[in-house]
Amino acid sequence: MDELAAKLRSVIQVTNGQPVSDGAGVRMTRMIGTPKLRTFDPFLMLDFFSSEAASDYQAGFPNHPHRGFETVTYMLAGRMRHKDNHGHEGVIESGGIQWMTAGRGVIHSEMPEQTDGLMKGFQLWVNLPARLKMTEPAYFEFNGDALPVEMRDGAIVKILAGKTSRGTTSPVASTHAGVLYFDVDLSPGASFREPVPAENAAAVVLFEGTATIVGRELANPSVAVLGEGDAVQVTAGTGGARFLFLSGRPLREPVAWAGPFVMNNDTQLRQAFADYQAGRF
Ligand code: FE
Repeated sequence: MDELAAKLRSVIQVTNGQPVSDGAGVRMTRMIGTPKLRTFDPFLMLDFFSSEAASDYQAGFPNHPHRGFETVTYMLAGRMRHKDNHGHEGVIESGGIQWMTAGRGVIHSEMPEQTDGLMKGFQLWVNLPARLKMTEPAYFEFNGDALPVEMRDGAIVKILAGKTSRGTTSPVASTHAGVLYFDVDLSPGASFREPVPAENAAAVVLFEGTATIVGRELANPSVAVLGEGDAVQVTAGTGGARFLFLSGRPLREPVAWAGPFVMNNDTQLRQAFADYQAGRF
């Protein structure tokens, strides 16, 4: 593709997220998966947690099940211990990522390792296609220093998942949705420009500073859903900007969603509840 002829994606929707409480009372901002932005195929949900008040997060997420999708936890500050019913356990450190394919089912807990100080990060839910909903559970887990960083003009691009147009590749690669997940830190006035496959959905999740995308100004925190095109261009305001760039191939399949289970129809949902209650996870 001729990069100069690329059609830049403009903003078709902006939402500011909604305060929610989940787990044992963890206070967060839901950016995707609200009435304003119900799903963003292939993504189901994005939660942003950011607090220095231990009371907002210390109760954590005690044992709970998942089936039919993937959870991606990216920590910006603080530490989260993960433990599941298949004997898998680990700590996601500040700057690190965990990509969990729940598949046919896990029961796990996600608990803060700290009792004070800043706890900040994101959890993304990525839907699985029908053929993979009952796949075996699997994990990618990497500390921040294992994730590659691309230094561009005025931009620091950390590659959380997928591969940039310049070839920098994360050790985390979704096999089914072609997910691109970058943490981009822009200096004041600097721009980030990147080709995006035309078939992909794409969004920018601004969480620090201000930015402009094809004439549309954004304040933080906000999600800007992008329209059709071949490339994204984000320009930081006078205070700089930090955002997640998120993109993936839509599944275009029916979604039957009940709490921690995301399947394709109600029969499969009832089966998920029955299997969970019978201890078959
Ligand atoms: Fe969970």
